[in-house]
Amino acid sequence: MNKLRIGLPSKGRLAEQAEELFKQAGLSFRRQPRSLFALVGELPIEVTFLRTEDIPVLCAEGAIDMGVTGSDLVAESGSDLVTRMSLGVGKCRLAVCVPEDSHIRAPAELSGCRVATSFPRVTAQYLRRHVSQVHLVPLSGSVEIMVALGVAEAIVDLVETGSTLAANQLRVLDEIGRYETVLIQNRQPRDPEMADRVARRLEGIVIARSYSLLEYNIPRNKLSEAERVTPGFNSPTVSALEDPAWCAVRAMVRRSEVMQVMEQLEEVGASAILEIPISNCRL
Ligand code: AMP
Repeated sequence: MNKLRIGLPSKGRLAEQAEELFKQAGLSFRRQPRSLFALVGELPIEVTFLRTEDIPVLCAEGAIDMGVTGSDLVAESGSDLVTRMSLGVGKCRLAVCVPEDSHIRAPAELSGCRVATSFPRVTAQYLRRHVSQVHLVPLSGSVEIMVALGVAEAIVDLVETGSTLAANQLRVLDEIGRYETVLIQNRQPRDPEMADRVARRLEGIVIARSYSLLEYNIPRNKLSEAERVTPGFNSPTVSALEDPAWCAVRAMVRRSEVMQVMEQLEEVGASAILEIPISNCRL
């Protein structure tokens, strides 16, 4: 059987994040300097290091079976691919931006403008819905300086914190879409069972990273109220305590909500509330 081929970003923050995620999921590989390939120990998987923007098309064409890339790049490639899951990192939005002091207040007013972007396909689709005439300036990077260079009146670019926009005196006119890092797969992977195994392993880590386990004790007569606060991933686990008036509860809680949930549990009457990190899971 042919080895499953997975494409990972060759450099940058996403390359580090993907390598760490694969390591945690038991899909470690040793990358030699300057080599474009690596083998995963113990499983028949070959990793290829590629430019993040080439991963969607190379996956659709079958050069790789799976890949880690941005959903923005998947949309821009227009390739027919399966998105198996979000990997919980790289969240950003694609936005149309104009100078802070621009008179433009709505997308329809972009008519006749020059719009610089490294997302010409997604931008053209968006602009067709709003304006009849626009001139696209396709670029591979540094889009944020194109208004200052006099190349465009507006740009379409990725925004994460907004600090790049602020530094270039630009403001968001409209949001085109929200994107994040994803695991993609083509429709006919070399080894479909191995592809499922990889996806399940990564899913275990991605879910574990976004949830904590909360354990607490609660008077039995307050249990249903507490369960409403912590419904768990499926349902909470309730165990008896020696004191029949009390019970212990374990439930998965989104990490981003843990503080708020602990406070709510205290208000309901819970005690000995513990947050326990989850390093891996199968649900
Ligand atoms: P920020 O200043 O945090 O809004 O980030 C904006 C800059 O970072 C832009 O130049 C974007 O092209 C780039 N950027 C932000 N998020 C991402 C992402 N998820 N993937 C690739 N580039 C991004």
